[in-house]
Amino acid sequence: MATPTVQSGIRGFRGEVLRPGDPGYDDARRVFNGMVDREPALIARCTGTDDVVAAVRHARDAGLPLAVHGGGHGVVGHAVCDAGLMLDLRPMNRVQVQPSDGSVRAEGGATWGQFDAATQEHGLAVTGGRVSSTGVGGLTLGSGSGWVERKLGYTCDSLTGAQVVTAAGEVLEVDADHEPDLFWALRGGGGNFGVVTRFDFRAHRLGPVLLGGMLLYRHEDAVDVVRHYREFMAQAPDEVGGGAALLSAPPEPFVPEAARGRPAVGVIVVYAGDVEEGRTVLRPLLEYGSPVVSMVQPMPYTAIQQMLDTAYPAGMRNWWTADFLRELPDEAIEAAATRTAGVPSPLTQVILVPGGGAPARVTPDATAFDLRDAPWNVHFLSMWPDPADDERNIAWTRELAGALKPYAAAGAYLNFLGDEGPDRVRAAFGPEKYARLVALKDRYDSDNLFCLNQNIAPSGQ
Ligand code: FAD
Repeated sequence: MATPTVQSGIRGFRGEVLRPGDPGYDDARRVFNGMVDREPALIARCTGTDDVVAAVRHARDAGLPLAVHGGGHGVVGHAVCDAGLMLDLRPMNRVQVQPSDGSVRAEGGATWGQFDAATQEHGLAVTGGRVSSTGVGGLTLGSGSGWVERKLGYTCDSLTGAQVVTAAGEVLEVDADHEPDLFWALRGGGGNFGVVTRFDFRAHRLGPVLLGGMLLYRHEDAVDVVRHYREFMAQAPDEVGGGAALLSAPPEPFVPEAARGRPAVGVIVVYAGDVEEGRTVLRPLLEYGSPVVSMVQPMPYTAIQQMLDTAYPAGMRNWWTADFLRELPDEAIEAAATRTAGVPSPLTQVILVPGGGAPARVTPDATAFDLRDAPWNVHFLSMWPDPADDERNIAWTRELAGALKPYAAAGAYLNFLGDEGPDRVRAAFGPEKYARLVALKDRYDSDNLFCLNQNIAPSGQ
Protein backbone atom coordinates (compact mmCIF):
# COMPACT_ATOMS: atom_id res chain seq x y z
CA MET A 1 0.00 0.00 0.00
CA ALA A 2 1.40 3.43 -0.91
CA THR A 3 2.31 6.03 1.68
CA PRO A 4 -0.20 8.89 1.49
CA THR A 5 0.81 11.72 -0.84
CA VAL A 6 4.43 10.84 -1.45
CA GLN A 7 4.21 7.75 -3.66
CA SER A 8 0.72 8.09 -5.03
CA GLY A 9 0.93 11.69 -6.18
CA ILE A 10 -2.60 12.13 -4.85
CA ARG A 11 -2.67 14.09 -1.62
CA GLY A 12 -4.04 12.02 1.26
CA PHE A 13 -4.63 8.90 -0.86
CA ARG A 14 -3.93 5.57 0.85
CA GLY A 15 -4.88 3.02 -1.79
CA GLU A 16 -2.82 1.74 -4.68
CA VAL A 17 -2.21 4.01 -7.69
CA LEU A 18 -1.40 2.49 -11.07
CA ARG A 19 0.19 4.25 -14.02
CA PRO A 20 0.83 3.08 -17.62
CA GLY A 21 3.43 0.32 -17.53
CA ASP A 22 2.76 -0.68 -13.91
CA PRO A 23 1.99 -4.36 -13.25
CA GLY A 24 -1.78 -4.75 -13.12
CA TYR A 25 -2.46 -1.50 -15.05
CA ASP A 26 -3.74 -3.23 -18.19
CA ASP A 27 -5.99 -5.59 -16.25
CA ALA A 28 -7.38 -2.73 -14.19
CA ARG A 29 -8.29 -0.55 -17.19
CA ARG A 30 -10.13 -3.35 -19.02
CA VAL A 31 -13.94 -3.14 -18.89
CA PHE A 32 -16.73 -5.54 -19.87
CA ASN A 33 -17.02 -4.21 -23.42
CA GLY A 34 -13.93 -5.29 -25.39
CA MET A 35 -14.46 -2.42 -27.85
CA VAL A 36 -13.33 0.00 -25.13
CA ASP A 37 -9.55 0.47 -24.98
CA ARG A 38 -8.63 3.60 -23.01
CA GLU A 39 -5.49 4.53 -21.11
CA PRO A 40 -5.94 6.60 -17.98
CA ALA A 41 -2.96 8.56 -16.65
CA LEU A 42 -3.78 7.29 -13.14
CA ILE A 43 -5.87 4.47 -11.76
CA ALA A 44 -6.70 5.27 -8.15
CA ARG A 45 -7.81 2.13 -6.33
CA CYS A 46 -9.88 3.52 -3.49
CA THR A 47 -9.97 1.77 -0.12
CA GLY A 48 -12.55 4.01 1.55
CA THR A 49 -14.45 7.28 1.47
CA ASP A 50 -11.34 9.33 2.33
CA ASP A 51 -9.59 7.95 -0.75
CA VAL A 52 -12.59 8.85 -2.90
CA VAL A 53 -12.51 12.42 -1.54
CA ALA A 54 -8.76 12.64 -2.24
CA ALA A 55 -9.14 11.30 -5.80
CA VAL A 56 -12.08 13.58 -6.64
CA ARG A 57 -10.20 16.64 -5.35
CA HIS A 58 -7.06 15.64 -7.23
CA ALA A 59 -8.92 15.24 -10.54
CA ARG A 60 -10.76 18.52 -10.04
CA ASP A 61 -7.69 20.54 -9.03
CA ALA A 62 -5.48 19.04 -11.75
CA GLY A 63 -8.18 19.48 -14.40
CA LEU A 64 -8.09 15.77 -15.22
CA PRO A 65 -11.00 13.92 -16.83
CA LEU A 66 -12.57 11.75 -14.10
CA ALA A 67 -14.00 8.28 -14.76
CA VAL A 68 -15.73 6.35 -11.97
CA HIS A 69 -15.41 2.56 -12.16
CA GLY A 70 -18.08 0.59 -10.30
CA GLY A 71 -18.51 -2.86 -11.85
CA GLY A 72 -17.25 -1.77 -15.29
CA HIS A 73 -20.35 -3.08 -17.08
CA GLY A 74 -21.54 0.14 -18.68
CA VAL A 75 -21.31 -0.78 -22.38
CA VAL A 76 -20.24 2.70 -23.41
CA GLY A 77 -17.17 2.27 -21.21
CA HIS A 78 -17.62 5.37 -19.06
CA ALA A 79 -15.75 3.59 -16.26
CA VAL A 80 -12.42 4.31 -17.98
CA CYS A 81 -10.98 7.40 -19.70
CA ASP A 82 -7.95 8.42 -21.73
CA ALA A 83 -5.31 10.57 -20.03
CA GLY A 84 -7.39 11.17 -16.93
CA LEU A 85 -8.02 9.70 -13.50
CA MET A 86 -9.91 6.45 -13.24
CA LEU A 87 -11.39 6.28 -9.75
CA ASP A 88 -11.59 2.55 -9.13
CA LEU A 89 -14.17 1.57 -6.52
CA ARG A 90 -13.64 -2.20 -6.80
CA PRO A 91 -11.61 -2.53 -3.57
CA MET A 92 -14.66 -1.03 -1.79
CA ASN A 93 -16.96 -4.02 -2.06
CA ARG A 94 -18.16 -4.86 1.46
CA VAL A 95 -21.83 -5.72 1.93
CA GLN A 96 -23.18 -5.61 5.49
CA VAL A 97 -26.59 -7.03 6.32
CA GLN A 98 -28.65 -6.32 9.43
CA PRO A 99 -31.03 -9.31 9.54
CA SER A 100 -33.22 -7.83 12.31
CA ASP A 101 -34.59 -5.04 10.10
CA GLY A 102 -33.47 -6.15 6.63
CA SER A 103 -31.20 -3.15 6.14
CA VAL A 104 -28.19 -3.61 3.85
CA ARG A 105 -25.18 -1.35 3.38
CA ALA A 106 -23.22 -1.98 0.19
CA GLU A 107 -20.01 -0.15 -0.65
CA GLY A 108 -19.94 1.61 -4.03
CA GLY A 109 -17.76 -1.00 -5.78
CA ALA A 110 -19.69 -4.15 -4.82
CA THR A 111 -21.05 -6.47 -7.49
CA TRP A 112 -24.44 -8.17 -7.51
CA GLY A 113 -22.73 -11.52 -6.94
CA GLN A 114 -21.29 -10.17 -3.69
CA PHE A 115 -24.55 -8.48 -2.76
CA ASP A 116 -26.73 -11.55 -3.38
CA ALA A 117 -24.35 -13.87 -1.51
CA ALA A 118 -24.42 -11.63 1.57
CA THR A 119 -28.18 -11.00 1.61
CA GLN A 120 -29.24 -14.57 0.80
CA GLU A 121 -27.38 -15.78 3.87
CA HIS A 122 -30.27 -14.17 5.72
CA GLY A 123 -33.04 -15.03 3.23
CA LEU A 124 -33.12 -11.46 1.97
CA ALA A 125 -32.94 -9.91 -1.49
CA VAL A 126 -33.14 -6.68 -3.45
CA THR A 127 -33.87 -6.75 -7.19
CA GLY A 128 -30.42 -7.05 -8.74
CA GLY A 129 -28.66 -7.42 -12.07
CA ARG A 130 -29.18 -10.51 -14.21
CA VAL A 131 -25.42 -11.09 -14.52
CA SER A 132 -23.59 -11.38 -11.22
CA SER A 133 -20.48 -9.37 -12.16
CA THR A 134 -22.51 -6.19 -12.82
CA GLY A 135 -21.87 -3.40 -10.32
CA VAL A 136 -24.41 -2.46 -7.67
CA GLY A 137 -23.30 1.16 -8.30
CA GLY A 138 -24.12 1.82 -11.94
CA LEU A 139 -27.13 -0.48 -11.97
CA THR A 140 -28.80 1.12 -8.94
CA LEU A 141 -28.10 4.68 -10.09
CA GLY A 142 -29.74 3.87 -13.44
CA SER A 143 -32.76 2.46 -11.51
CA GLY A 144 -32.01 -1.27 -11.78
CA SER A 145 -34.05 -3.92 -13.52
CA GLY A 146 -33.91 -7.61 -12.57
CA TRP A 147 -35.78 -10.91 -12.64
CA VAL A 148 -37.83 -10.18 -9.51
CA GLU A 149 -38.66 -6.53 -10.24
CA ARG A 150 -42.39 -7.18 -10.70
CA LYS A 151 -42.49 -8.42 -7.09
CA LEU A 152 -39.84 -6.26 -5.34
CA GLY A 153 -39.79 -3.14 -7.54
CA TYR A 154 -36.78 -1.71 -9.33
CA THR A 155 -33.53 -1.71 -7.39
CA CYS A 156 -33.80 2.03 -6.68
CA ASP A 157 -37.24 1.46 -5.13
CA SER A 158 -35.48 -0.38 -2.27
CA LEU A 159 -32.83 2.31 -1.79
CA THR A 160 -33.24 4.11 1.54
CA GLY A 161 -30.13 6.27 1.56
CA ALA A 162 -26.57 6.75 0.37
CA GLN A 163 -23.24 8.33 1.19
CA VAL A 164 -22.11 10.60 -1.64
CA VAL A 165 -18.84 12.38 -2.36
CA THR A 166 -19.70 15.49 -4.35
CA ALA A 167 -17.65 17.33 -6.97
CA ALA A 168 -16.57 19.73 -4.21
CA GLY A 169 -15.13 16.77 -2.29
CA GLU A 170 -17.81 17.02 0.41
CA VAL A 171 -19.20 13.86 2.00
CA LEU A 172 -23.01 13.92 2.20
CA GLU A 173 -25.33 11.49 3.99
CA VAL A 174 -28.43 11.39 1.84
CA ASP A 175 -31.92 9.98 2.45
CA ALA A 176 -35.56 11.02 2.33
CA ASP A 177 -34.96 13.59 5.13
CA HIS A 178 -31.43 14.75 4.30
CA GLU A 179 -30.70 16.23 0.88
CA PRO A 180 -34.01 14.77 -0.35
CA ASP A 181 -33.62 16.23 -3.85
CA LEU A 182 -30.27 14.54 -4.27
CA PHE A 183 -31.78 11.31 -2.96
CA TRP A 184 -34.49 11.64 -5.62
CA ALA A 185 -31.86 12.19 -8.35
CA LEU A 186 -29.80 9.16 -7.29
CA ARG A 187 -32.77 6.92 -7.97
CA GLY A 188 -32.49 6.78 -11.76
CA GLY A 189 -30.33 9.81 -12.63
CA GLY A 190 -27.13 7.78 -13.13
CA GLY A 191 -23.62 8.74 -11.99
CA ASN A 192 -24.14 12.47 -12.59
CA PHE A 193 -24.24 13.81 -9.05
CA GLY A 194 -21.24 12.39 -7.22
CA VAL A 195 -19.48 9.19 -6.26
CA VAL A 196 -21.71 6.97 -4.14
CA THR A 197 -19.43 5.31 -1.61
CA ARG A 198 -22.26 3.49 0.20
CA PHE A 199 -25.74 2.40 -0.86
CA ASP A 200 -28.34 1.70 1.88
CA PHE A 201 -31.18 -0.66 1.01
CA ARG A 202 -34.21 -2.15 2.71
CA ALA A 203 -34.16 -5.80 1.57
CA HIS A 204 -37.12 -8.14 1.25
CA ARG A 205 -37.72 -11.75 2.33
CA LEU A 206 -37.08 -13.99 -0.67
CA GLY A 207 -35.64 -17.42 -1.26
CA PRO A 208 -33.38 -19.18 -0.61
CA VAL A 209 -35.01 -21.44 -3.26
CA LEU A 210 -37.28 -20.27 -6.08
CA LEU A 211 -38.78 -21.95 -9.12
CA GLY A 212 -36.84 -20.71 -12.12
CA GLY A 213 -35.06 -21.52 -15.35
CA MET A 214 -35.61 -21.47 -19.07
CA LEU A 215 -37.69 -23.12 -21.77
CA LEU A 216 -36.02 -23.15 -25.17
CA TYR A 217 -37.91 -23.60 -28.46
CA ARG A 218 -36.88 -23.78 -32.10
CA HIS A 219 -36.76 -20.39 -33.80
CA GLU A 220 -39.50 -21.52 -36.18
CA ASP A 221 -41.85 -21.35 -33.16
CA ALA A 222 -40.74 -17.82 -32.17
CA VAL A 223 -43.91 -15.96 -33.17
CA ASP A 224 -46.25 -18.43 -31.44
CA VAL A 225 -44.11 -18.67 -28.31
CA VAL A 226 -43.78 -14.91 -27.85
CA ARG A 227 -47.49 -14.36 -28.52
CA HIS A 228 -48.38 -16.97 -25.94
CA TYR A 229 -45.95 -15.39 -23.45
CA ARG A 230 -47.53 -11.98 -24.10
CA GLU A 231 -51.04 -13.34 -23.37
CA PHE A 232 -49.83 -15.12 -20.24
CA MET A 233 -48.06 -12.04 -18.86
CA ALA A 234 -51.12 -9.85 -19.42
CA GLN A 235 -52.75 -11.53 -16.41
CA ALA A 236 -49.74 -12.86 -14.49
CA PRO A 237 -49.34 -12.05 -10.79
CA ASP A 238 -46.41 -9.93 -9.56
CA GLU A 239 -44.51 -13.06 -8.55
CA VAL A 240 -43.93 -13.98 -12.20
CA GLY A 241 -40.71 -12.48 -13.54
CA GLY A 242 -38.51 -13.30 -16.49
CA GLY A 243 -38.70 -12.49 -20.17
CA ALA A 244 -38.84 -13.80 -23.71
CA ALA A 245 -35.49 -13.96 -25.48
CA LEU A 246 -34.58 -14.26 -29.14
CA LEU A 247 -31.16 -15.80 -28.92
CA SER A 248 -29.09 -18.72 -30.15
CA ALA A 249 -29.19 -22.04 -28.34
CA PRO A 250 -26.02 -22.42 -26.28
CA PRO A 251 -23.49 -25.07 -27.37
CA GLU A 252 -24.10 -27.01 -24.14
CA PRO A 253 -24.63 -30.75 -23.61
CA PHE A 254 -28.20 -30.19 -22.34
CA VAL A 255 -29.20 -28.77 -25.75
CA PRO A 256 -29.94 -31.34 -28.51
CA GLU A 257 -27.00 -31.33 -30.91
CA ALA A 258 -29.05 -30.21 -33.92
CA ALA A 259 -30.18 -27.07 -32.09
CA ARG A 260 -26.82 -25.97 -30.65
CA GLY A 261 -25.64 -22.57 -31.84
CA ARG A 262 -28.77 -22.07 -33.97
CA PRO A 263 -31.32 -19.24 -33.55
CA ALA A 264 -33.94 -20.11 -30.96
CA VAL A 265 -36.50 -18.52 -28.70
CA GLY A 266 -36.36 -18.78 -24.93
CA VAL A 267 -38.82 -18.11 -22.15
CA ILE A 268 -37.08 -17.32 -18.90
CA VAL A 269 -39.21 -17.77 -15.79
CA VAL A 270 -38.62 -16.89 -12.17
CA TYR A 271 -41.37 -17.27 -9.60
CA ALA A 272 -40.72 -14.94 -6.66
CA GLY A 273 -42.83 -16.91 -4.19
CA ASP A 274 -43.61 -20.41 -2.98
CA VAL A 275 -42.25 -23.15 -5.29
CA GLU A 276 -45.45 -25.29 -5.36
CA GLU A 277 -47.62 -22.23 -5.93
CA GLY A 278 -45.22 -21.34 -8.75
CA ARG A 279 -45.70 -24.71 -10.44
CA THR A 280 -49.47 -24.09 -10.50
CA VAL A 281 -49.32 -20.48 -11.64
CA LEU A 282 -46.70 -21.16 -14.31
CA ARG A 283 -48.41 -24.31 -15.67
CA PRO A 284 -49.66 -22.58 -18.87
CA LEU A 285 -46.06 -21.61 -19.67
CA LEU A 286 -44.46 -24.86 -18.55
CA GLU A 287 -46.87 -27.00 -20.59
CA TYR A 288 -46.84 -24.89 -23.74
CA GLY A 289 -45.66 -26.22 -27.10
CA SER A 290 -42.69 -28.47 -27.74
CA PRO A 291 -39.59 -27.02 -26.11
CA VAL A 292 -36.25 -28.51 -27.14
CA VAL A 293 -35.01 -27.78 -23.63
CA SER A 294 -37.12 -27.47 -20.50
CA MET A 295 -35.04 -26.58 -17.48
CA VAL A 296 -37.37 -24.99 -14.97
CA GLN A 297 -36.78 -26.30 -11.49
CA PRO A 298 -36.38 -25.21 -7.87
CA MET A 299 -33.04 -23.41 -7.65
CA PRO A 300 -31.23 -21.23 -5.12
CA TYR A 301 -31.97 -17.58 -5.83
CA THR A 302 -28.20 -17.02 -6.09
CA ALA A 303 -28.09 -19.61 -8.94
CA ILE A 304 -30.99 -17.91 -10.71
CA GLN A 305 -29.02 -14.68 -10.48
CA GLN A 306 -26.09 -16.37 -12.22
CA MET A 307 -27.91 -18.44 -14.82
CA LEU A 308 -26.95 -16.03 -17.63
CA ASP A 309 -23.35 -15.43 -16.51
CA THR A 310 -21.75 -17.72 -19.08
CA ALA A 311 -23.84 -16.16 -21.86
CA TYR A 312 -22.12 -12.80 -21.21
CA PRO A 313 -18.37 -13.41 -21.42
CA ALA A 314 -16.33 -10.30 -20.57
CA GLY A 315 -14.17 -8.82 -23.31
CA MET A 316 -16.49 -9.46 -26.27
CA ARG A 317 -17.40 -6.56 -28.55
CA ASN A 318 -20.77 -5.10 -27.52
CA TRP A 319 -23.26 -2.70 -29.08
CA TRP A 320 -26.48 -2.26 -27.15
CA THR A 321 -29.64 -0.25 -27.36
CA ALA A 322 -33.11 -0.50 -25.85
CA ASP A 323 -36.65 0.80 -26.00
CA PHE A 324 -39.73 0.71 -23.88
CA LEU A 325 -42.63 -0.51 -25.99
CA ARG A 326 -46.15 0.84 -25.53
CA GLU A 327 -47.55 -2.32 -27.11
CA LEU A 328 -46.33 -5.64 -28.50
CA PRO A 329 -48.62 -6.40 -31.43
CA ASP A 330 -48.21 -9.47 -33.64
CA GLU A 331 -46.50 -7.34 -36.29
CA ALA A 332 -43.75 -6.36 -33.84
CA ILE A 333 -43.18 -9.98 -32.86
CA GLU A 334 -43.07 -11.00 -36.51
CA ALA A 335 -40.60 -8.21 -37.32
CA ALA A 336 -38.28 -9.36 -34.53
CA ALA A 337 -38.64 -13.05 -35.41
CA THR A 338 -37.95 -12.56 -39.12
CA ARG A 339 -34.78 -10.60 -38.45
CA THR A 340 -33.38 -12.75 -35.65
CA ALA A 341 -33.56 -15.79 -37.95
CA GLY A 342 -30.50 -14.24 -39.62
CA VAL A 343 -28.69 -13.01 -36.50
CA PRO A 344 -25.01 -12.44 -37.37
CA SER A 345 -23.59 -13.55 -34.00
CA PRO A 346 -24.69 -16.48 -31.81
CA LEU A 347 -23.87 -14.38 -28.71
CA THR A 348 -26.45 -11.70 -29.54
CA GLN A 349 -29.73 -11.61 -27.62
CA VAL A 350 -32.95 -9.64 -27.85
CA ILE A 351 -34.79 -9.74 -24.54
CA LEU A 352 -38.40 -8.69 -24.04
CA VAL A 353 -38.93 -7.91 -20.38
CA PRO A 354 -42.54 -7.58 -19.25
CA GLY A 355 -43.59 -4.51 -17.23
CA GLY A 356 -46.37 -4.16 -14.68
CA GLY A 357 -46.29 -5.28 -11.06
CA ALA A 358 -44.67 -3.35 -8.22
CA PRO A 359 -42.66 -0.78 -10.25
CA ALA A 360 -45.80 0.39 -12.02
CA ARG A 361 -47.49 1.15 -8.68
CA VAL A 362 -44.81 3.57 -7.45
CA THR A 363 -45.88 7.22 -7.84
CA PRO A 364 -44.18 8.44 -11.04
CA ASP A 365 -42.74 11.52 -9.28
CA ALA A 366 -41.17 9.49 -6.47
CA THR A 367 -37.89 8.89 -8.33
CA ALA A 368 -35.90 10.41 -11.16
CA PHE A 369 -36.51 7.15 -13.04
CA ASP A 370 -39.46 7.61 -15.37
CA LEU A 371 -41.72 5.48 -17.56
CA ARG A 372 -42.95 3.00 -15.00
CA ASP A 373 -46.03 1.96 -16.91
CA ALA A 374 -44.61 0.68 -20.21
CA PRO A 375 -45.79 -2.90 -20.73
CA TRP A 376 -42.49 -4.05 -22.31
CA ASN A 377 -38.83 -3.12 -22.08
CA VAL A 378 -36.91 -4.51 -25.06
CA HIS A 379 -33.12 -4.83 -24.91
CA PHE A 380 -31.03 -5.37 -28.03
CA LEU A 381 -27.78 -6.85 -26.74
CA SER A 382 -25.45 -7.37 -29.62
CA MET A 383 -22.21 -9.22 -28.88
CA TRP A 384 -19.48 -10.72 -31.07
CA PRO A 385 -15.76 -11.56 -30.77
CA ASP A 386 -14.05 -10.25 -33.93
CA PRO A 387 -13.38 -6.53 -34.68
CA ALA A 388 -13.72 -7.35 -38.38
CA ASP A 389 -17.41 -8.02 -37.75
CA ASP A 390 -18.15 -4.68 -36.04
CA GLU A 391 -19.89 -3.02 -38.92
CA ARG A 392 -22.10 -5.98 -39.82
CA ASN A 393 -23.26 -6.56 -36.23
CA ILE A 394 -23.91 -2.90 -35.49
CA ALA A 395 -25.82 -2.40 -38.75
CA TRP A 396 -27.93 -5.50 -38.09
CA THR A 397 -28.79 -4.38 -34.56
CA ARG A 398 -29.66 -0.84 -35.67
CA GLU A 399 -31.94 -2.22 -38.37
CA LEU A 400 -33.75 -4.52 -35.94
CA ALA A 401 -34.17 -1.80 -33.31
CA GLY A 402 -35.44 0.50 -36.07
CA ALA A 403 -38.03 -2.08 -37.13
CA LEU A 404 -39.53 -2.01 -33.62
CA LYS A 405 -39.46 1.82 -33.30
CA PRO A 406 -43.08 2.22 -34.46
CA TYR A 407 -44.15 0.44 -31.25
CA ALA A 408 -41.77 2.31 -28.91
CA ALA A 409 -43.00 4.52 -26.10
CA ALA A 410 -41.43 7.98 -25.85
CA GLY A 411 -38.47 7.46 -23.54
CA ALA A 412 -35.58 5.10 -23.02
CA TYR A 413 -34.09 2.87 -20.34
CA LEU A 414 -30.87 4.50 -19.14
CA ASN A 415 -29.13 1.30 -18.06
CA PHE A 416 -29.34 -0.24 -21.52
CA LEU A 417 -28.63 2.82 -23.63
CA GLY A 418 -25.52 2.78 -25.73
CA ASP A 419 -23.68 5.90 -26.90
CA GLU A 420 -26.83 7.47 -28.35
CA GLY A 421 -26.44 11.19 -27.71
CA PRO A 422 -28.02 13.76 -25.38
CA ASP A 423 -31.53 13.55 -26.87
CA ARG A 424 -31.90 9.93 -25.82
CA VAL A 425 -30.69 10.75 -22.29
CA ARG A 426 -33.24 13.58 -22.14
CA ALA A 427 -35.92 11.24 -23.42
CA ALA A 428 -35.20 8.82 -20.58
CA PHE A 429 -36.55 11.39 -18.11
CA GLY A 430 -39.10 13.46 -20.02
CA PRO A 431 -38.92 17.28 -20.06
CA GLU A 432 -40.06 18.03 -16.49
CA LYS A 433 -37.84 15.53 -14.74
CA TYR A 434 -34.94 16.47 -16.99
CA ALA A 435 -35.31 20.15 -16.04
CA ARG A 436 -35.32 19.19 -12.35
CA LEU A 437 -32.20 17.07 -12.87
CA VAL A 438 -30.39 19.94 -14.65
CA ALA A 439 -31.22 22.24 -11.70
CA LEU A 440 -29.75 19.63 -9.35
CA LYS A 441 -26.68 19.26 -11.56
CA ASP A 442 -26.22 23.04 -11.31
CA ARG A 443 -26.39 22.72 -7.53
CA TYR A 444 -24.12 19.71 -7.02
CA ASP A 445 -21.80 19.65 -10.07
CA SER A 446 -22.01 22.93 -12.00
CA ASP A 447 -18.65 22.28 -13.75
CA ASN A 448 -19.73 18.82 -14.89
CA LEU A 449 -16.79 17.04 -13.26
CA PHE A 450 -18.95 13.91 -13.43
CA CYS A 451 -19.50 14.00 -17.19
CA LEU A 452 -18.37 10.48 -18.11
CA ASN A 453 -21.80 8.88 -17.82
CA GLN A 454 -25.17 9.16 -19.56
CA ASN A 455 -24.67 12.86 -19.02
CA ILE A 456 -27.08 15.44 -17.71
CA ALA A 457 -25.18 18.63 -18.51
CA PRO A 458 -25.50 21.63 -16.19
CA SER A 459 -27.39 24.61 -17.63
CA GLY A 460 -24.20 26.50 -18.54
CA GLN A 461 -22.97 23.78 -20.91
P1 FAD B 1 -19.60 1.01 -14.65
O1 FAD B 1 -19.25 0.95 -16.10
O2 FAD B 1 -18.51 0.90 -13.65
O3 FAD B 1 -20.43 2.29 -14.35
C1 FAD B 1 -21.45 2.74 -15.22
C2 FAD B 1 -21.78 4.19 -14.86
O4 FAD B 1 -22.19 4.28 -13.51
C3 FAD B 1 -20.59 5.10 -15.03
O5 FAD B 1 -21.00 6.33 -15.52
C4 FAD B 1 -20.06 5.21 -13.62
O6 FAD B 1 -19.38 6.39 -13.45
C5 FAD B 1 -21.33 5.13 -12.77
N1 FAD B 1 -21.08 4.54 -11.45
C6 FAD B 1 -20.86 3.24 -11.16
N2 FAD B 1 -20.73 3.08 -9.84
C7 FAD B 1 -20.87 4.30 -9.29
C8 FAD B 1 -20.84 4.79 -7.95
N3 FAD B 1 -20.65 3.97 -6.91
N4 FAD B 1 -21.03 6.12 -7.76
C9 FAD B 1 -21.23 6.96 -8.80
N5 FAD B 1 -21.26 6.55 -10.09
C10 FAD B 1 -21.08 5.23 -10.31
N6 FAD B 1 -28.90 -3.28 -16.01
C11 FAD B 1 -30.05 -3.54 -15.37
O7 FAD B 1 -30.75 -2.62 -14.94
N7 FAD B 1 -30.46 -4.85 -15.20
C12 FAD B 1 -29.72 -5.90 -15.63
O8 FAD B 1 -30.12 -7.03 -15.44
C13 FAD B 1 -28.50 -5.64 -16.26
N8 FAD B 1 -27.72 -6.64 -16.71
C14 FAD B 1 -26.53 -6.36 -17.30
C15 FAD B 1 -25.70 -7.41 -17.73
C16 FAD B 1 -24.49 -7.15 -18.33
C17 FAD B 1 -23.62 -8.28 -18.77
C18 FAD B 1 -24.08 -5.81 -18.53
C19 FAD B 1 -22.79 -5.53 -19.24
C20 FAD B 1 -24.89 -4.75 -18.15
C21 FAD B 1 -26.12 -5.02 -17.51
N9 FAD B 1 -26.96 -3.99 -17.10
C22 FAD B 1 -28.12 -4.28 -16.45
C23 FAD B 1 -26.63 -2.61 -17.37
C24 FAD B 1 -25.94 -2.02 -16.18
O9 FAD B 1 -26.84 -1.83 -15.12
C25 FAD B 1 -25.35 -0.66 -16.51
O10 FAD B 1 -24.45 -0.78 -17.56
C26 FAD B 1 -24.65 -0.09 -15.30
O11 FAD B 1 -24.31 1.24 -15.55
C27 FAD B 1 -23.42 -0.88 -14.95
O12 FAD B 1 -22.95 -0.51 -13.70
P2 FAD B 1 -21.45 -0.85 -13.30
O13 FAD B 1 -21.19 -0.24 -11.99
O14 FAD B 1 -21.22 -2.31 -13.48
O15 FAD B 1 -20.66 -0.17 -14.49
